[in-house]
Amino acid sequence: MPAETAPPALRIEPVPAFNDNYLWLASRDGLAFVVDPGDAEAIEEALAARKLQLAAIVVTHHHGDHTGGVQALKRAHGAAVYGPAGEPIPARDAALGEGDRVELLGVAFDVLDVPGHTRGHIAYHAPSIEVLFCGDTLFAGGCGRLFEGTPAQMHASLSKLARLPDATRVYCAHEYTVANLRFARAVEPDNAALARRLADSEALRARGEPTVPSTIALERATNPFLRCDEPAVRAAAERRRKGASATAVDTFAAIRAWKDVY
Ligand code: ZN
Ligand code: FE
Repeated sequence: MPAETAPPALRIEPVPAFNDNYLWLASRDGLAFVVDPGDAEAIEEALAARKLQLAAIVVTHHHGDHTGGVQALKRAHGAAVYGPAGEPIPARDAALGEGDRVELLGVAFDVLDVPGHTRGHIAYHAPSIEVLFCGDTLFAGGCGRLFEGTPAQMHASLSKLARLPDATRVYCAHEYTVANLRFARAVEPDNAALARRLADSEALRARGEPTVPSTIALERATNPFLRCDEPAVRAAAERRRKGASATAVDTFAAIRAWKDVY
């Protein structure tokens, strides 16, 4: 590929905050954008340590652990705030929804509507660098709780993300992976790829390292919420609730409800 058409590389690092949030800091040539800055101070420290200038603030949904630092960061840096059109986002400059495309540090991101966790939740996908920021919709080995949406909406949102290319790296907003995969093992005890992934994730956490990003391929192979068409997942849902194997959405609803009490 000629150099001028090669997509610019972004450095993408997790900034841990609260108990288990990852605020994602993406940078290139001294400029940065941040995804879901729930905590302004954590981002200020990360920017200062790396001598970065904040160019944009990107938000997936309205929850406080994703938006708590937005106003302070905008005030301090004058950075533009991108967020979902369908939710109240503090200091939002660009109201986004499905089909919109935004350019961040020279990289084009497609906006996807992914309702379910919240009604207006969006995700940001950059095909040229195979990166997905998906907030609290798709987690490594799991998915977000249904606070505002229906099982059918969330299942459709996750199915949309599952159709992205295999190599797409999945940058979700929480480190929930080990707990998610322990639940996944209860759903699919005979899934060998899942057993390997759980062991790998436990080893990473034992060393204090993040398990994120994952990839769409790994999620498709091991995340039960993307596997509602698999006979083993259907059967597990049916054992949990009679009739739950009827459709993929019924199966999704049954295992999501099971996870809520697991
Ligand atoms: Zn949330
Ligand atoms: Fe969250």
